[in-house]
Amino acid sequence: MKLPDPVSYAIPAFVLLIILEMWLTRRRGVGRYDWRDAGASLTLGLGSTIAGALTGAAVVAMAVWFYQFRLFDIPFAWWAFLLAFVLDDLAYYAFHRSAHRVRWFWASHVIHHSSQHYNLTTALRQTWTGFLSLGFLFRLPLFLIGFPPAMIFFVAGLNLVYQFWIHTEQVGRLPRWFEAVMNTPSHHRVHHAVNPRYLDRNYAGVFIIWDKMFGTFQPEEDSDRPRYGIVHALPTLNPLWAAVHEWVAIARDAVRSRSPSELLGRLFGPPGWQPGGAGETSETIRARWQATNPKQEA
Ligand SMILES: [Zn+2]
Ligand SMILES: [Zn+2]
Repeated sequence: MKLPDPVSYAIPAFVLLIILEMWLTRRRGVGRYDWRDAGASLTLGLGSTIAGALTGAAVVAMAVWFYQFRLFDIPFAWWAFLLAFVLDDLAYYAFHRSAHRVRWFWASHVIHHSSQHYNLTTALRQTWTGFLSLGFLFRLPLFLIGFPPAMIFFVAGLNLVYQFWIHTEQVGRLPRWFEAVMNTPSHHRVHHAVNPRYLDRNYAGVFIIWDKMFGTFQPEEDSDRPRYGIVHALPTLNPLWAAVHEWVAIARDAVRSRSPSELLGRLFGPPGWQPGGAGETSETIRARWQATNPKQEA
């Protein structure tokens, strides 16, 4: 079955929403747009599309290969699409959590967090090196269950389209039932923030319920406004550097490693890990913050 690519169909809506957001940002004085930052985001989005096109065939081939060992024959029925959408979102949660907790995956995901701004153009910052970091592995179980590859690629596209509109400061809080179930601008602002309270929280794609189920949920606090970006901000807006800088750092650290366990830690430990607990990870940053703010609860 041939299904359309939801992302291509959504591009005109992306453009219109970016224009609307720019206008609102000016009018209301809420949020920020920086031309150079937005330009870098657009370039990164374009690069990601090219990288995806180059490696897409290999990913499809792998999906089809796994699909031949499927447990069930799932038909192209409405309920199957629904189930695929929900389970694919769970797979996304697992992928995204690993993308923040394992340096090898983080090296490709960091690009999405490299802006210190938070607007709809930030959503376009997508990885160039997803294939290298093996992010597609997280969706393979879905093909083994028996979801047809075309169905999974379709719902994965819808998932990505959903995640576009939540990258904005123009939307405050939505009705309580919606905030309870769905990923929203408020929840995702937390995900993009470097405030110690917010580090490594809210990994959800579409449904915030995964974070609540697996203990990674943090609501946005009005008293702690998100500061966006990564713990060590990049010194340049150069898109090529944003795309590869963590891989370069990994290579440097790998060469420096003095033992196999150190090498493993530097490749697959959490970002910031260093031997002997000397590194600065999300945990150490949060612990230090809690120690100096005893009244705060993380
Ligand atoms: Zn992320
Ligand atoms: Zn995001």
